[in-house]
Amino acid sequence: MPKPLDLVLDLYGCPNRCLHCWIGHMPNRRMRDGDDRFIVDFFRPYRLLQLVTGAGLLRRLPGTVGEGLASVGQRGPEAVRTGEFLAYPYVPFLREVGVRGVQLTFFGLETLTDRYVGRKGTFRELLQATELLLAHRIAPRWQAFINEENKDELVELLRLSETLQLRERCEAFGEEFRFFVHEGSCDGENRKLYGIRICKGDVPAELKPYYLDFDRLASEREWVERLWDDFSHVTFHNVDRIVLQISNRFDVYFNFFEMSERWKIGNLKTDAPDELVRRVAEEDVPALCVARNRTVGELAGQYGDPHSERLFARGDYEEYLLNLCLYDQSIPV
Ligand code: SF4
Repeated sequence: MPKPLDLVLDLYGCPNRCLHCWIGHMPNRRMRDGDDRFIVDFFRPYRLLQLVTGAGLLRRLPGTVGEGLASVGQRGPEAVRTGEFLAYPYVPFLREVGVRGVQLTFFGLETLTDRYVGRKGTFRELLQATELLLAHRIAPRWQAFINEENKDELVELLRLSETLQLRERCEAFGEEFRFFVHEGSCDGENRKLYGIRICKGDVPAELKPYYLDFDRLASEREWVERLWDDFSHVTFHNVDRIVLQISNRFDVYFNFFEMSERWKIGNLKTDAPDELVRRVAEEDVPALCVARNRTVGELAGQYGDPHSERLFARGDYEEYLLNLCLYDQSIPV
């Protein structure tokens, strides 16, 4: 059966340099007119892939707030419809098309948020976006990435949301304001923040009620203890649909993980189309070959730190271990 195929293109680059960007930083280079058509036509002849949505946008456009589509995992373009990607000019229309909430990302107050996003003025934009959304009866959702550096400031961010009465103002038009905190994955640029990853005992008590799935998290030490004899493998699989991320150099990746060399499927300009589509259909990329050959227990034994109190969800921790293995040049692929 053909699987629906979504293509997500890096048409314009991104004005930000977020320190948590899981797809990884890439040079900004605007694609040329006709490149999108070339990419869509590349896949059009293949009947095992059913091209359903044409092309979406991979990274953020200037004048937008929120995440590029790649930042919302397997859901791809659906993120626009559910409000995880916000373009200012479209705010008045969002409510009309049924969007009830829009997610905005913080890393603390002004200085930290601007620094983590890599662009001065971001924090003020987020506050302006909050007001704009409220004015159009759309609930802002404030998500905050927590680490050892910003944990106390996130308490102040929570207090700011209370001072601005965001909960009450959303309730006034029948929607719910959400404030939530999480540690994020540990891939892409975020991998470089491992050294300040939040430790289990350091999450401020005020934030715990707002922490996503806190009960399902464990310290790295606990995961190493639990996983050392685990014979499963880190798996990624396109179940119902395939989402491909395409860089401005025409490199192709699944949207499982970061856009780095060992996750690359191929290149639309230099690889033979039949071979590239075979790799897509068979999920044949170097990183997944490594994943199939190493058990989670082996990865935990070789790369896990049994003394670390850093906090992880199980899936994020397994992916972090796999990535350490992928960056270990002594491991042949
Ligand atoms: S996380 Fe999104 S907005 Fe930030 S640098 Fe990456 S693509 Fe750009």
